[in-house]
Amino acid sequence: MAYDVEKPDEQWRAELTPAEYAVLRQSATEPAFTGEYTDTKTKGVYSCRACGADLFESDTKFESHCGWPSFYDPKDSDAVELVEDRSHGMVRTEVRCARCGSHLGHVFAGEGYPTPTDQRYCINSVSLRLTPAEG
Ligand SMILES: [Zn+2]
Repeated sequence: MAYDVEKPDEQWRAELTPAEYAVLRQSATEPAFTGEYTDTKTKGVYSCRACGADLFESDTKFESHCGWPSFYDPKDSDAVELVEDRSHGMVRTEVRCARCGSHLGHVFAGEGYPTPTDQRYCINSVSLRLTPAEG
């Protein structure tokens, strides 16, 4: 599939830090409980660190205690792309930025969290950039 934002690999590598590149472009996962947004409660909008697209709002962030920032719904349903991921001997649903195709994390459903969707978008902090709400 073609994304609105596409760049050669060398350009992504130059623009992103090594940690950002590993997660966003090589689908790595940051270690649990290390990301800068794991416990953040600041109001605002989380955007894609690769292309700047708005992805999640702080209102849908919840405490999952899983070690990564967790959201129960994307900002807009077409802000993210869901892709079946059969790596590591599991069947999971990968979450990518719909604008640039960068890896964000995975989404899990039916875990029993008390949220409106019963979904957990488990997203790497390093994939996101929080813009605090004004005021
Ligand atoms: Zn993006």
